[in-house]
Amino acid sequence: MKDGHKSNFLSIDVEDYFQVSAFEDISPRNSWDGFEPRVEANTDRVLRCLSDASVKGTFFILGWVAERFPALIRRIAEEGHEVACHGLNHERLTGISRESFRRDIRRGKKLLENLTGRPVWGFRAPSFSISPDTLWAFDELLEAGYRYDSSVFPIKHDFYGLPDWPDSPFWVKSLGDGQWVPDLFSGAVEDFSNIPAAGRVLEIPIPTLKLLGRKWPIAGGGYFRLYPYFLTRWGLRHINEAEGKAFVFYVHPWEFDPQQPVMKGARLKSRVRHYLNLDKTESRFRSLLKDFSFGRICDMLPPP
Ligand SMILES: [Zn+2]
Repeated sequence: MKDGHKSNFLSIDVEDYFQVSAFEDISPRNSWDGFEPRVEANTDRVLRCLSDASVKGTFFILGWVAERFPALIRRIAEEGHEVACHGLNHERLTGISRESFRRDIRRGKKLLENLTGRPVWGFRAPSFSISPDTLWAFDELLEAGYRYDSSVFPIKHDFYGLPDWPDSPFWVKSLGDGQWVPDLFSGAVEDFSNIPAAGRVLEIPIPTLKLLGRKWPIAGGGYFRLYPYFLTRWGLRHINEAEGKAFVFYVHPWEFDPQQPVMKGARLKSRVRHYLNLDKTESRFRSLLKDFSFGRICDMLPPP
């Protein structure tokens, strides 16, 4: 049974297994061309699941992947999905300068637009790395012509987090000097199409489930592979029905690939997070697409 009354957002972060932040210490950027690429075949598996379920989603694509697999990017766009930007080289904002972020998001946008012939509106920071120290990212996104961001994870985590920020879509407004705050005059997703977007960025944060006085990540990635599916389904239904909110779900093509080469020298914690239940992702994902309604993020924005 679909929870048809609420359309959620499906997002896919298109990067390869050796590009994840958890492995950045053992696979630096200059070594990437030496790995067996699997992103094209794995993204095709995701595309097949989506087409079998007649679902359209938003693909946040790494520039490095777009440069090497242009036909894949065109295929994603031709199948009706939204193409958005995940940076060029999967560098966390906390590790690069504002100037290099500026170059990165402009080059990434142009690259994807040239490939698809369509405007790119959305950005997701590698490892959700917009943090209290990198809020200037919103200035840069706005100036580069982006209209929304989906990088805020309102929890505490060793890699990311803005724990006090809302966890359902909201506008972010500038206070000047690189400082930005959530603008909470409207909490209802349905209202976003009526609000003029000038000078503000729409944020689609990664949702959490509020339970037992804590916030629990529930909507994708390692958590989707960790929890049994019935628990994910229960939590996401709770967000749709009890909280009356839409959520964005996220997944990576490498999570559909139990046969991927094992990275040598990774720390135990990273290994456990990365390789857990890879053989379960596809069947769980197919169930998820049946159990919930999903769409593209760009469809919630007002016309430019
Ligand atoms: Zn990523």
